[in-house]
Amino acid sequence: MKDDKLGQPSRQSITSNLWKKIWGIKAPQATKSFLWRAASESLATNLNLHKRKVVESPLCPICSMHPESVAHALWTCSVAQDVWSMGSRRMQKLCMQDGSFKEIFMPVLIQLYPLELIEIAVTAKAVWHRRNSWLFEHDFHPAIQVSKQVLAELNSIGTWLENSEKRIKVQVPHITQWSAPPPEFFKANWDADR
Ligand SMILES: [Zn+2]
Repeated sequence: MKDDKLGQPSRQSITSNLWKKIWGIKAPQATKSFLWRAASESLATNLNLHKRKVVESPLCPICSMHPESVAHALWTCSVAQDVWSMGSRRMQKLCMQDGSFKEIFMPVLIQLYPLELIEIAVTAKAVWHRRNSWLFEHDFHPAIQVSKQVLAELNSIGTWLENSEKRIKVQVPHITQWSAPPPEFFKANWDADR
C-alpha cells in the first residue's frame, strides 16, 4: 500500500521500532529504562520542570546558555559532548546535531550494532549522573573520569552478559582514554561469542 508515497515508514512504525530497539538492547533493565525515559522526554530536566512550574529557569544548570531539554542535557551541551567525544566516532558521525532526543538518537539506534547500543545507553546515563552530581552535590567530574566510569560499566555489563544465557563478552581496550573500537570489532566479537 502506498500511504507513504516516498516509500518511507510511518511515524508510528518508526516509534514502535525505536521502543523495540531500546528494550532489545542487551543491557541491565535500569540502563534500558533510563534510555526509554530519555526518549519519552520524561527526565527531570530544567526545561521539563519549568514547564510544570517547579523551577523558575529552564536554562541548563551547567552551561546556563540554553534551555535544558533532554537532548541538550544528554547530547548537545558542551559538557555532554566532551564525554561523547571520547566514545564511538561512528555514533558522532551518525547523530544529528539538533532536534529532540528521540529525533537525534532514533536513526543511530536503528543503524548501530548491538554492542554499540549498549555503549550509547551507558554513556547517556553517565552524562546524566554527571549533571546530577554537579547540580545536587556540587561535584563536577572531569570528562575523563566519566569515560572511565563508562568503560568500567561496559566491562561489568560484559561480565553480566557472560553470566547470562547469551554468553556475550564486551571487550574493551584497557586504556586511560576511552576510544571505541571500530564497528567490525564489535561485530566480530558479537558473532564469535554468540
Ligand atoms: Zn548546557
